[in-house]
This record gives sequence, structure tokens and C-alpha cells, in this order.
Amino acid sequence: MPEVLLNPLQQEVMNALKIPEDWVPLPAKIVTDIEEQLLDELADLSDWFTADQPLRVSKHLLSTIHGCEAHHVAQQAEPFSWNINTVRGTMVHKAVELLLNWKSEQLPGSIVDSAITSVINNPRESASGFIASLSEPEVAELRGAVVGSLTNFLECFPPLKPQWRPVVEHGARYGVHHDSIVFSARMDLVIGLPGRKVIIDLKTGRITPTHRDDLRFYALLETLRSRQPPRRLATYSLDAARLDTEDVSEGALQAAVRRTSHGVHAMAELAKNKRSPIKRTGMQCKWCPLLDTCQEGAQFVRQLSGLDNDDL
Ligand code: SF4
Repeated sequence: MPEVLLNPLQQEVMNALKIPEDWVPLPAKIVTDIEEQLLDELADLSDWFTADQPLRVSKHLLSTIHGCEAHHVAQQAEPFSWNINTVRGTMVHKAVELLLNWKSEQLPGSIVDSAITSVINNPRESASGFIASLSEPEVAELRGAVVGSLTNFLECFPPLKPQWRPVVEHGARYGVHHDSIVFSARMDLVIGLPGRKVIIDLKTGRITPTHRDDLRFYALLETLRSRQPPRRLATYSLDAARLDTEDVSEGALQAAVRRTSHGVHAMAELAKNKRSPIKRTGMQCKWCPLLDTCQEGAQFVRQLSGLDNDDL
């Protein structure tokens, strides 16, 4: 098959993802070292939960617990509900999934239409009912946004070769203490052979520092699940066509263990009502369900607005 000529943006991504000539895999012992470190850190929680009612830990839950604990608890109490913004990311992932196996001409509009139809017709997709309930203008707005993201992906990401074994929505699960604490993840895109995988998070918004923490959690989970650390982590912003990468190192995995352990302890203490949640103001205040009754959050949001006004 002839080599596809890459445009400069695609070449940039390709250069950032390919295996450097001097790359050396991490020593195999790292897997057991990291596992021991995690088990040691969580030893005091060994009888707090059961396999029937485990503590479930995900990237999102770790991220919210490290943000504002009160917000985390409020979100846990509320049933998840879709909105146009959250469903956009899901539809982009679905469209990329279809793209990987698309045999005919890769027209973003056609692929996105198929993605929307596929989700609506699959009752196991949790966004199915929400998308089916949208009005025609709302579907058109969603379609336009997803077509934009998919077009960016096609234009800026190198075509994924089958030899790279690309997997979309790669699921990973790992349980400790007889499955009483369960870590799980669904990674947007994973490419590469075992032991040299690159885990890629596709973002429809801007890249923030917390994305590296998210990916380190994925690296930790993939290391424990597959018994081989991935090679590299990458966050790709579809809007900005920007890639942020980090090599998986022992230090990054140890940092992931510490952050995960800290978050799991906080989640466990709050789940068992051992203490009150701590409030921490941040960007999450803007969409927090407690904002109306939270003095600190309301003040923070007012300050944000003031800064915005000063910028005008
Ligand atoms: S408004 Fe902000 S500080 Fe207050 S509970 Fe919500 S996220 Fe926390």
C-alpha cells in the first residue's frame, strides 16, 4: 500500500507518537513494585467495602474528589443527565470509532449521521434516549459540532494504520481487596502493541493540567491490568489540533498511585460518612448544583465575572 503523504499537522502528531530509536521499555519489575505500593497505600481500607457493594473509582470520580469534595458528593447524589455539551464528546468518540472501520469514502457528515443513528437505535447506549428526544434544530446543532470535531481529527491526526492496532473506547478494570475497590476506565483511543501502547484522550475542549493526571490514572490501570506499562500518554485537543504528551515513567506511575490512593481514601471516608466534605472553589463552581447555597462558591464566581469584566 503506498505511503500517505502527511500534512504538517499530521506529521507533527506522527513525530510525537512514534517510537524513538533510543526508547527502552521500563523494567518488568515496575509492575509488581507499583502494585505493591498501591496495595500498601490502600491496606487500611481492606474491610470497608465488599465485592457486592464495592467502592467504584473512575477517572471522573478521582478528578471531582480532588476538586471540591462537596461538589463530588452532590454529583454522586444526583442522577446523571445528558446535555448538548456532554453528548457532543460521546458522539465524537462514536464517530471516530466508526471512522476506524469505515470502508467507503471518509465523508465526516456521512460518518456522523451514521454515528447519531447508531446511538439512537441502540438502547444500551445511555445517550440514546436523550438524542432521540432532541428537536430537529438541536440535532442539527449537535451534528454540526461533531462534524467539525471529526473533520479536525481527519485533517490533523495521521490516518491510523491497522498495524498500529488502534482501539477506540478501550475498557480496563482492576479490583483490589477481593474486588471491594474497583478501578475502571474507558480510554478514548489506544494504539500500539502490548508493552509499547500509547493511550490517547481526545478532548473537544482545551487541554488543562488535570488531563495529565487523568492519563496517569489510565497508565496505572493499564499497567496493573495488562502487566505491562504503556509507553506514552497523549491528550489531543480536537478544537486546537494540539497534542500534549508524556512518557510513562516509574515516577509518573508512582505519582498516579499517590493521587489515586489519596482520592480513594477521601471517597471512602465520605461514602462511609466518616467526615464532612471539604469545599474547594474552582472552575467547577460555575456549574455546581450547590452554587445557590454556597457562599464561597458564589463569591468565587463573582470574582471570576469581575476579572472577565476587567478583561473587556
Ligand atoms: S459552589 Fe464551588 S465551593 Fe461551593 S460546593 Fe460547589 S464547587 Fe464547591
